Parts: sequence; structure tokens; C-alpha cells
Amino acid sequence: MRSVTVITHPLVQHNLTRLRDKRTGPQEFRRVLGEVAALMLYEATRSFAVERVSVKTPLAPARGFQLRREVVLVPVLRAGLGMLDPILQLIPHARVGFIGLKREEKTLQAMYYHQSLPPALGEFEVILIDPMLATGGSSVAAMDLLAQLGAKRVRLVNLVAAPEGIRLLHSHYPKLPIFTAAIDQRLNECGYILPGLGDAGDRLFGV
Ligand code: URA
Repeated sequence: MRSVTVITHPLVQHNLTRLRDKRTGPQEFRRVLGEVAALMLYEATRSFAVERVSVKTPLAPARGFQLRREVVLVPVLRAGLGMLDPILQLIPHARVGFIGLKREEKTLQAMYYHQSLPPALGEFEVILIDPMLATGGSSVAAMDLLAQLGAKRVRLVNLVAAPEGIRLLHSHYPKLPIFTAAIDQRLNECGYILPGLGDAGDRLFGV
């Protein structure tokens, strides 16, 4: 599939399996999701543009690099919050925007209930954080909003994707890079990913 990177690192896969396990309670789920998010971030940011800079060590001049652009992290509420803090620890200078979307139960359509995003999004590297790519409706809605606000460089950090969701998202945004830990079998009749891990927001917050 185009622009999809499945992160097969053993630590990511080990932790994903713990997240799938229904015996994993909210406290452990939060911790393990954080660990996976941090591990996935390395892969997701590998192609960030850098520029050359010079610094002086206490002993001599040295050449190095700095990120060319500022970074905005955009978790999709609620489940995206579970990956935010560990990513912020690795990119502490990042700004944070939020997109609140919920699925209308009957139509499974994504509806906004909140958005707060920094201006001039076109200047930033944007990391959209949406752990469950199910129908793809919420990711498409989030991408529509980011595109309307001028975002040009967006990548999606996702934990589990359904083939249906990837297809829908790439039919709207064919070049969007998606970083995921797994592409699962399919959706069930309620729009949940099989085998998936259940409702990520509920498991994260113990609802
Ligand atoms: N959202 C979830 O949290 N889980 C799914 O399986 C689908 C959407």
C-alpha cells in the first residue's frame, strides 16, 4: 500500500500485543501506549528536514544539524491524548493543537466538536496522532481541517489501521505518510477494527 510504513520493531510489536490483550487495564494501557508512541516517533520523524549549523563545543567548533521547521503535534481526541505526552517529551519544543471528533453512531460519520490549532500551519511539520484508523472518517475529517488551514507537511502516527481506513484516507490524501504498528483484518459491522484492541479511548481512560 502507498505511503504506509508498518513499524515491525520487536519492542513495538511486543507492546502492541499487550495493548490488544483485554486483560491489560487502563493504568498499564496508558503506560504501554506511551512506550509505543515514543518508539514509533523515531520512525515517523526520520525524514524531517534538517539544516546545517555550527556550534562551539568547549574545545572546538563543530558542525551539526537542527530541525528546519517547527513541529506541531495534533492529537485527535480522545485516544490521541494517550500518545501525546511521550511524544512531547521527545520533542519538547513542539506546539500542540487539538481536534475533537466523534463518530455519529448510526452513520459512523465523523463530526467536529472541538478544534484549536496554531496559525500558519503551512510553516510546520505536522504530526497528526490518531491511534485507531478504522473507517478513516475521522482521519479524513482531521486532514480536511488541517488542509483548510494550510498544512503542507503532515504525517499520521497511528497504532492500528484497518485496510478500509487506509483506502479511504489515501483516496483523499494519496501522499499522506502513515506510520502504523499493524494493518488488521477488517472492520466489524459497528466500525470497530478486528482484531484491533477495542475502543482505545475507553481502554485508556477506563470508561
Ligand atoms: N476506534 C477505536 O478506538 N477502536 C476501533 O476499533 C475503532 C475505532
